[in-house]
Amino acid sequence: MCKVISVSNQKGGVGKTVSCVNLGIGLARSGKKVLLIDADPQGSLTISLGYDEPDKMENTLATILMKVINDEEFAQNACLIRHNEGVDLLPGNIELSGLEISINGVISRETILKQYVDRMREFYDYIIIDCMPSLGLLTINALACADSVLIPVQAAYLPVKGLQQLIKTIGRVKRQLNPELEIEGILLTMVDNRTNYAKDIVKQVHEVYSESIKVFDAEIPLSVRAAETSEEGSSLYQYDPKGKAAVAYSDFIKEVLMKEGE
Ligand code: ADP
Ligand code: MG
Repeated sequence: MCKVISVSNQKGGVGKTVSCVNLGIGLARSGKKVLLIDADPQGSLTISLGYDEPDKMENTLATILMKVINDEEFAQNACLIRHNEGVDLLPGNIELSGLEISINGVISRETILKQYVDRMREFYDYIIIDCMPSLGLLTINALACADSVLIPVQAAYLPVKGLQQLIKTIGRVKRQLNPELEIEGILLTMVDNRTNYAKDIVKQVHEVYSESIKVFDAEIPLSVRAAETSEEGSSLYQYDPKGKAAVAYSDFIKEVLMKEGE
C-alpha cells in the first residue's frame, strides 16, 4: 500500500524542503520505494537534490499536469529523475506558477495532481510532495491527493495563527475533496536547545496541539550542516551521517514507520 504525504505549511523557511529530502531518502534507506514531487514553483526540492537550474528543465511536474489537463497519454516514468540516493524525483520549476493561474478555469481544478498521483501509487511505498509556501491551488491539489499532511514547524516563535489557518484549510479539503485526509503530525524543526526560548516554544506547541494533533517526539535541531545540505544535492545521511540533524531525522523516520505498524 502506498502512502502519500504532503509536506505543508504556508509559512516559508520552516524546513519543509529539507524535511522532504531527508524523509524521502531516509525511507528509501529503509528499503521503501519513494517518489518525491516538487510542487513549489521555486524548485527548492529539485535544487536541494542537486539539479541547480530547475527553470531550464523541460520535463517537470508542470509538463505532467498539462498532460493530465489535456487528457494526453504519458509513460509511467515520464519526467522522472532517479537520484543517486535511491529516490525518484518529479522536479518542479517556475512553470508551475503560470500553470496555477491557468488551471483556474479547468474542470476539477483541485484534483489534477490527484489524477497523476493515484496512477503512480502502485509503483511506490511513499509519495512525498513538497508544497509551496501558500495555500493556493497547487497546495490544495497536494492536499486533495494526500493521505496525510506533515506540518514542519520552526521552533522560533509560537506559530499559532498561521497553523490555525493551515488546519482550517486541511479541514475544508477533508470535507469537500478528500474525506480520508489526516494530519500526519507536527515536526518541530530548527530547534535551538541552547535557548530557553526554543524550549518554551516546543513546550507550548505540545500544550496547544498535542491533544488534537500528533507532535513527533523527534525534534530536528538547528544545524549548520542541515542548512548546507541544500547546496550539496544530497541528504544529511550522506553529507553528515553522524551529525545531530541526521540522527534526528532517522528518529523521525522510525516514528513515521512505527505509525504504519512496521
Ligand atoms: P521551506 O521549504 O519551509 O521554505 P527549507 O527546508 O527550505 O524551508 O529551510 C529554510 C532554510 O533553513 C534553508 O536555507 C535551509 O537550508 C535551512 N534549514 C532547514 N532545516 C534546518 C535546520 N535543521 N537547521 C538549520 N537550518 C536549516
Ligand atoms: Mg521549500
